[in-house]
Amino acid sequence: MNTLPHWINGAEVTTETTAPVFNPATGAEQAHVVLGAAPEVDAAVQAATAAFETWQDSSLSQRTQIMFAFRQLLLDHEEELGRIISAEHGKTVDDARGEITRGREVVEYACGLGDILKGSFSDQVSRGIDVHNFRQPLGVVAGITPFNFPAMVPLWMHPIAIATGNTFILKPSERDPSAANFIADLYQKAGLPDGVFNVIHGGKDAVDAILTHPGIEAVSFVGSTPIAKYVHETATAHGKRVQALGGAKNHAVVLPDADLEFAANHITAGAYGSAGERCMAVSVAIAVGDAADHLVDILTLKANEVNVGPGNTPGTDMGPLITKAAQERVENAVTTAHAQGATLVVDGRGLKIEGHENGFFTGPSLLDHVTTDMDAYKEELFGPVLAILRVDSLDEAIAVINANPYGNGTALFTSSGEAARRFQRRIKVGMIGINVPVPVPMSYYSFGGWKDSLIGDHPIHGPEGIRFYTRPKVVTTRWPQPTQHITAGFTFPTSN
Ligand code: NAD
Repeated sequence: MNTLPHWINGAEVTTETTAPVFNPATGAEQAHVVLGAAPEVDAAVQAATAAFETWQDSSLSQRTQIMFAFRQLLLDHEEELGRIISAEHGKTVDDARGEITRGREVVEYACGLGDILKGSFSDQVSRGIDVHNFRQPLGVVAGITPFNFPAMVPLWMHPIAIATGNTFILKPSERDPSAANFIADLYQKAGLPDGVFNVIHGGKDAVDAILTHPGIEAVSFVGSTPIAKYVHETATAHGKRVQALGGAKNHAVVLPDADLEFAANHITAGAYGSAGERCMAVSVAIAVGDAADHLVDILTLKANEVNVGPGNTPGTDMGPLITKAAQERVENAVTTAHAQGATLVVDGRGLKIEGHENGFFTGPSLLDHVTTDMDAYKEELFGPVLAILRVDSLDEAIAVINANPYGNGTALFTSSGEAARRFQRRIKVGMIGINVPVPVPMSYYSFGGWKDSLIGDHPIHGPEGIRFYTRPKVVTTRWPQPTQHITAGFTFPTSN
């Protein structure tokens, strides 16, 4: 059975300890991945530190050319990488290609490096004195990423970090680790010098070694909220700059004036796409006033039409969950919701797919009459479960969402511009869709939620990504004429 190695300084490195990697559609072990700890992290930091010495001095045009070549390779290998992701994650190949596309857009943003990194210049701020500023890379930076987007979430980080002159260590999820090595190979083919991009596989031991290593300047994290809090606390205590994106509970509000068929179609795709394992998945629909009954009728029809199966089979809408434990957790949550008083309109539990009886499948579940005190509402289920809450007004819906500890994404379905404007101004959520169910920002904006969905103060990619991976310098310059006599004052300098 194949054992996936680390990637340090442009070469494969193995360690003895390994973990199994499953095919979620069959439930079978299909590979092993090495599990690194402090020694492997230290080796990667040494390599990345040495590489930084020359990479930081590479020209903007050299970095841009490598990013262009990397972008083309991502495009050329999209199908192959999509199949690798589908086999380890379970999502459909088309969905995996979608995440590669959204990740590639960050590379395209990074290709505009020359424009993005331009500083400012102020002429004659004082007599004979000019001021300019520019930004420089931090050094060695690391990214720790979740299982649900094994290509896209790391691509939110490393193209920006590398294009701005840093060297990078990626610690991907141990559940679907192959995409990281595939990307490492593409970077090498694109001409990236060895040591600029490294991959360390592993779990908590590898993460802890990254968070405490004195040679790492900054840590980017995306994953669940408890781990995001832990990463933020630990890495900042060790003097690092940290961006830490956490979990989510995303609400879609449907007003009676919305096109209910349109809303139900998009909410169904947003709830059950990728088996609900998206940080921007719609997990709660809030039906306002008399929208509720008709909306639930259409959602029921749509949920029953979702085609569940292996991710590599054409026609599949939704694949399995990532692990057996995730399958059990989601099905138990549906059982508990029913026991706590929710109406189980569509029951996805116990689904068996012919020929894939040991796969980690569960069908779409639809829960009506959910209330905010139920566990199914309070917890991030991260599975294909849509909960429906019924309220009387838009203001009540806004109050529900604002009281929720998470604030990643939200959507409003309406035909009223006034309602849309009120919603987007008053809602305490970072990413908002108006008649758009999964409002993931384009790469030239930044991605990040509010409240427990983002710990600290650094959204990811776009302009915030540039800011995160660089630090500013301001230079005040005077070139006096040799004959010019300028007296030095003992008072604090002021301009005149
Ligand atoms: P996770 O928090 O379990 O794991 C994320 C990373 O942390 C992995 O690399 C993992 O190896 C590591 N890790 C896990 N437990 C750890 C521990 N105890 N100590 C140190 N490191 C640890 O998340 P996951 O299950 O892989 O991914 C799903 C979660 O990620 C969901 O909560 C989802 O909402 C969130 N997510 C958020 C965003 C966002 O942009 N806000 C995007 C994608 C996923």
